[in-house]
Order: sequence, then C-alpha cells, then structure tokens
Amino acid sequence: MYDYLIVGSGLFGAVFARQMTDAGKKCLVIDKRTHIGGNVYTQNIDGINVHKYGAHIFHTNDKEIWNYVNSFVEFNRYTNSPLAHFKGKLFNLPFNMNTFYQMWGVTKPEEAREIIDRQIKEAGISTPTNLEEQAISMVGTDIFNVLIKEYTEKQWGRLCKDLPTFIIKRLPIRFTFDNNYFNDKYQGIPIGGYTKLVEGLLADIEVRLEVDYFNQKDALNSIAKKVVFTGKLDEYFNYDLGYLEYRSLRFETECLPIPNFQGNAVVNYTEKDIPFTRILEHKHFEFGTQPSTVITREYSQEWTVKNEPYYPINDEKNEKLANAYKKRAKEIPNVIFGGRLAEYRYYDMHQIVGQALKTAREQNQ
Ligand code: FAD
Ligand code: UDP
Repeated sequence: MYDYLIVGSGLFGAVFARQMTDAGKKCLVIDKRTHIGGNVYTQNIDGINVHKYGAHIFHTNDKEIWNYVNSFVEFNRYTNSPLAHFKGKLFNLPFNMNTFYQMWGVTKPEEAREIIDRQIKEAGISTPTNLEEQAISMVGTDIFNVLIKEYTEKQWGRLCKDLPTFIIKRLPIRFTFDNNYFNDKYQGIPIGGYTKLVEGLLADIEVRLEVDYFNQKDALNSIAKKVVFTGKLDEYFNYDLGYLEYRSLRFETECLPIPNFQGNAVVNYTEKDIPFTRILEHKHFEFGTQPSTVITREYSQEWTVKNEPYYPINDEKNEKLANAYKKRAKEIPNVIFGGRLAEYRYYDMHQIVGQALKTAREQNQ
C-alpha cells in the first residue's frame, strides 16, 4: 500500500514525491511517457542535452526555490537572450536599447523614448482591450509590425486583435542595453540537462513508466491512500463537459556536422512567410564545444486529442469550462490536482516547484 500515487513525473509530481518521501511517506510515481521529467525532459544526443519539448530556462526571484533546485543539480550561468530574425535582419530581444538602435539607429534612451511615445500617441489607444492594442501601447507600431504581429499570429493561430492582453505583458521593455529576457534575480540551466534534475528529485522513489492512469484507474487507486493527479483536468472527467483547448507544437530536430549553426540558443523568426516560429540550437544552453550541433525548428499548430497540449487558451470560453471542471475536482476526496495540465494554466517551472513544495507542506501539517 502506498501513501501517494503520483500521476505524472513532471516537475510537479517529482518535487511532491521527493518532499513526501523525505517526510517518511511511501510514494509511487507513474507516467504514460517512456521517460521521466514531463516537458522539461532533455535527451542526450551526441553529448548535447536536447530540450525535447521546447527551450526551458529556469528563472526565479525566490531564493528558497533556487537553492532547492540547486541542491539536486548545479545550475550554470546561462542568461536567455534570444534574437529575432525578420527578413534577413537580426534584432535583440527583449525590447531594449539594442533593439531600438537596430530598428531606428538611435543611440540615446531619450531618442528611443521619443519615437515610441510619438507612435503610441498616433495610435490613439486609451485602454488596450486586446494584444494588438496592448503591444502598440507598450512599444509603438514599428516594433509591433516587425517583431510582434506576425510572430504572435503564427504562434497562436489567431489575430492579435483576438488575443488577450496578458500574453504580451510578460515581455520586459528596457531603455538600457540589456538583452536579458528575464528580470529575475536567479537564472540558469542544470549542468547536464533537466533530466539530471528530475533524476535527483526521484532518486530512490519507485517510478513506473508507460503506464496510463486511465487504463487502470481503479486498480491504481486501490493501492494508494491518496492520488496526486498532474494530467489533463478535462481528461480526468472523461471530457464530459467538453474539451479544453490548447495550442500545440511540432518539433523538427536535425543533427548537423558543423560546430555552430546560429551562434545563439534561440532565434525567433518573426515574419509570417517562414512557417516555424523559432530555431533552438541546444548546445548553446550549456556553452557546448562539441564538433557537431543539434537544432530544432519549432512549429506552432492547433491542438487535437492526437497531439501534445502545450499552451492553454485562457480565453473566456475555456476559463468558464475549466472553472466548471475545477469545481468538481474540489469535491473529489483524496485526490489532489496539481501542475499546469490539472490547473489549465501556463506556469513557469519556478511556479510549479513553489506550488509542489506548498502542496507537500500542507499535506505534512
Ligand atoms: P508536465 O511537465 O506536463 O508533466 C505532467 C506529466 O504527467 C507528463 O509527464 C505526462 O506524461 C504525465 N501524464 C499526464 N497524463 C497522464 C496519465 N493519464 N497517466 C500517466 N501520466 C500522465 N518554464 C520556465 O520556467 N522557463 C521556460 O523557459 C519554459 N519554457 C517553456 C517552453 C514551452 C514550449 C512550454 C510549453 C513550457 C515552458 N515552460 C517554461 C513551462 C514548463 O514546461 C512547465 O512549468 C512545467 O513543465 C510544468 O510541469 P508539470 O509537472 O506541471 O507538467
Ligand atoms: N512575442 C513576440 N515576438 C517575439 C517573442 C514573443 O511577439 O519575438 C510575443 C508572443 O505573442 C508570445 C509572447 O510574446 O506568445 C510571450 O513570449 P514568450 O517568449 O514568453 O513565449 P513562450 O516562450 O512562452 O512561447
């Protein structure tokens, strides 16, 4: 008999399992995939740790969370500084003085400020109600047209006018020459890849792979006092109120016999005529010096039950449906719903670690 059956070996499941095991509880972790780690899983190809489910950069302001993950694996000093490629020209991201210099040739913050303010004024938006209006109110029309509009419409498969404002608020805007994509105090990548982090978390814990909870729900429930479910919220209820929508991704990975393909881990392709959204060159996440390289082209696509769910579509319709499922989830005794899929939320890794630590603390009270 187990104290906890943990469905999903992603970060939420792995952190929770570690904490409860350390508190003396007996845990069984299952995952339907062939590997542990969920979406942070990295696969070693020719000595390069390949981010199989998209680029993952750990960043946090919380010292406890940073120290916690570093206690399982050492993190490097990687700072995310993606580039944007538009019609043969490169721009630095996030939007900062380097971007403004590349866009207009301005060298002083006040010159950049003046251009952006003028464009914002000309657009005449008082209260932004969608992503397009929000973006123009933040950075003006030139940056919107070159770096945001077509990329966002490729990424989300929807017009900027039909998307919520919060998506674009994530990106910093700076009037300094600073290409750091994040504002957080701590940032890095586990040396040796994320799989090493998850292996550390799950050390000495029983894990069964290629086990789908829904194929043997009753048998699995009967061997544990409590269940922690980190899979899809709507799937738990057999989609009986309807499907929650997601944006999915398709990855095309290629090994190349050259040491350096693009000189940076992430290059976004912001024009609509190029079908992929970005190219990752994995070795640069860990400053690799291997003689060959591995690159991944990332294509955005609509989600169907046949492909992986990546980005929840948190619009009004889906929020309403998710809330109806969540209400039912609360009423189920001895089942804890946690993680990005069970909560139908886009969460960064540090938020997932924080929530799993909190959930484990509550269980131990
Ligand atoms: P998951 O990793 O999805 O784990 C859930 C696990 O449950 C999976 O392994 C799945 O196979 C398993 N499972 C589901 N259903 C069943 C079932 N029925 N039976 C058995 N097992 C099941 N965060 C950052 O902080 N920085 C980044 O740079 C970053 N980049 C990202 C890029 C992309 C493209 C995406 C989509 C996300 C990114 N994130 C990033 C977010 C990060 O991936 C998540 O915060 C994190 O992986 C969530 O962990 P989780 O355990 O909640 O979910
Ligand atoms: N975005 C953009 N151009 C870029 C990068 C991002 O317009 O070059 C927008 C896009 O709408 C995206 C959002 O900013 O969905 C958030 O970007 P982030 O890099 O955080 O997206 P993620 O890495 O989660 O896909």
